[in-house]
Amino acid sequence: MSAEPVLTISGLNVDYGTDAGAVHALRDIDLTLNRGEVLGLAGESGSGKSTLAYAVTRLLSPPGVITGGEVHYHRPGGDRVDILSLAPRRLRAFRWQELSIVFQGAMNSLNPVHTVHSQLTDVLAAHRPELRKRQRTERAVELLGLVGISADRLAAYPHQLSGGMRQRVMIAMALALEPEIVIMDEPTTALDVVMQRQILRRLVQLRRQLDFSVVFITHDISLLIEFSDRIAIMYGGRIVEQAGAAEIYRDPRHPYSDGLLHSFPALHGPRRELTGIPGSPPHLSAMPTGCAFHPRCGKAFDPCAGRVPLLAPPADGPGRAVACHLHS
Ligand code: SF4
Repeated sequence: MSAEPVLTISGLNVDYGTDAGAVHALRDIDLTLNRGEVLGLAGESGSGKSTLAYAVTRLLSPPGVITGGEVHYHRPGGDRVDILSLAPRRLRAFRWQELSIVFQGAMNSLNPVHTVHSQLTDVLAAHRPELRKRQRTERAVELLGLVGISADRLAAYPHQLSGGMRQRVMIAMALALEPEIVIMDEPTTALDVVMQRQILRRLVQLRRQLDFSVVFITHDISLLIEFSDRIAIMYGGRIVEQAGAAEIYRDPRHPYSDGLLHSFPALHGPRRELTGIPGSPPHLSAMPTGCAFHPRCGKAFDPCAGRVPLLAPPADGPGRAVACHLHS
């Protein structure tokens, strides 16, 4: 696996404006996606995972505002693109050609009154005007083949496809222009577990075949353990732990990561007791002081309520990072 970065996020901050003032949705996010890897982003609802995806792709709409930080895309060969400064026209091309995004709920993303053929070929017509009509159809057939759907479904409307097929059409569409990065925001959450795994296995095969990088966002850490190379865990708008997927599974350092791991049954390896995490995630407008996890943390001690722990490598674990006073 290459350690060459394809996407770097530094010091990213996002606020949401409310009648009562601004609330901090993302704080000091530093994250790197390496070329060819699957980076998993985990956390409960409201932890900031989707806000991060929207901010990075500049799809964040008011009252969300990026208040600081930088996001760079690194082209093969070394060119660096400042995503937050791209002009609107350049940004539209960038979004499909170099970075694409697959959202949860394909029915909401696919146009219900257009066939699969017309939706796939529209993307090609807009971004590859040099392709003739026949070539666009051939490419649409090829894209459907990549995700395991036969060409006879080209004429189908979204409602004539199963949920799994619709989500695979979205993945085909995201791959249409061979982007370097695909961001998947809860791409399989609405599907049953068998279909989830089929789609994710296919995605991992495609990633190897086509050599793109993936940011895979989900609240289900068991899926990330299975399908990611590295995992970043978010809580209260911050990254609280980052490590290789196997390291997080074997030896989570942050009490929240440990709680997440004990909230989902593992499909492989030894059985573990499911204990869950007491309490609920904090509301953005009432974020606890110090470590935002302290009201739910069974290991909280003196400094936890007063000081925000910084994300840093633990003394014995270079190559990973954790934001917890137990390790500072
Ligand atoms: Fe728990 Fe304290 Fe670590 Fe936060 S900093 S996770 S409250 S031990």
